Amino acid sequence: EGAWDFYWADVWWMKEIFDRAYLEDQMRINHFRNHYELTRKNLMVKNLKRLRRQLERDCGKAEAQKCDFFPSTFELPSEYHIFVDEFRKSPGSIWIMKPIAKSQGKGIFLFKRLKDITDWKRGVEYQPQLLSPDGTSQAIETYVVQRYIENPYLIGGRKFDIRVYVLVTSYNPLKVWLYRSGFARFANFRYSLATIDDNYIHLTNVAIQKTAPDYDPEKGCKWSIQQLRKYLTGKHGQQKINCLFQQMTNIFVLSLQSCQRVIINDKHCFELYGYDILIDSDLRPWLIEINASPSLTASNKEDYDLKFGLLNDVLNVLDLENRLTGREKRIGLFDLMWDDGPVYSEEGGIEDVISSYTSAANSNLGLEIYQNAESLKKATSANV
Ligand code: ADP
Repeated sequence: EGAWDFYWADVWWMKEIFDRAYLEDQMRINHFRNHYELTRKNLMVKNLKRLRRQLERDCGKAEAQKCDFFPSTFELPSEYHIFVDEFRKSPGSIWIMKPIAKSQGKGIFLFKRLKDITDWKRGVEYQPQLLSPDGTSQAIETYVVQRYIENPYLIGGRKFDIRVYVLVTSYNPLKVWLYRSGFARFANFRYSLATIDDNYIHLTNVAIQKTAPDYDPEKGCKWSIQQLRKYLTGKHGQQKINCLFQQMTNIFVLSLQSCQRVIINDKHCFELYGYDILIDSDLRPWLIEINASPSLTASNKEDYDLKFGLLNDVLNVLDLENRLTGREKRIGLFDLMWDDGPVYSEEGGIEDVISSYTSAANSNLGLEIYQNAESLKKATSANV
């Protein structure tokens, strides 16, 4: 209602109101109409599998293998039989079951034996009509079942995953900005495969970890990406870690390309994605999930500064006041990474070109950031 230029809509609004809304030229909204194509766990995988098939057809097996950055995944119940075939091929492996429409680790569990999901299949998650004796049947909840990454990279014996922010301002042509900052979220307890039903060990969501018995909100369970990159570089050397971060850039670009033709482009829409990446002990990054509404709640002062700066920079990139030339490659901590093709960094190129099809794009993820809000503001206005 009323006049507005910028609307931070929830996904409900996109579904119920967007199609009926009259949007003036300057109005901007934080989702694309069918954002879920990338942010629903099952649809993300469907789009990635399609891209992999297409790359194999058009460019061959080697190119298609660049899409092998997501663990083997099946939708349940529809792909149950294919999953069982795959499961039997790798006896003893661990799998993770996730409801597609939930977040913050809700409803997730790990299992090793088919019998464990036979029990689950009899339960109310799979057959919610068991809940309604009055005969009103609800739809069966869709899950994805995914190969569990059993060898995560550990720091201090603990598992972590990385949250990276990626801003898409257009799908056609594809225009993508990568935020230099982000964080690693650590589990509170030491990693072990001896107990696969302990969520404090295996799920790194802050929503889960902050309920751990000795969680300290001041200490939190996060490192900045800068801290992480420094640590990893110190341990493994620049070349390996540059390669790791370059592979992450490939994940961002390929996943967005996988749904480029599916997403309904609209000049009023943009999307700030929260990517969750897990690194394994071979320094290989895996895409775990992409969030359409990454949490902007701050868990402490440092987190507040990160998220405040992030939103400030999103608004600067969107440029509602028309102050930019449109040729900027860097705005605040956002680097233009893809603009209908890779965007090369002005600050010294990237050595490890993974693929001409995708990357060599700007990737300063985890590199230099400004020390305080004042210098951040100065840098932003200098760019403007
Ligand atoms: P949610 O939307 O509920 O956060 P995610 O898919 O992000 O669901 O999974 C929650 C957490 O579980 C992740 O942050 C990660 O720590 C862990 N996890 C999820 N999938 C895997 C996997 N395939 N291998 C290892 N850990 C995983």
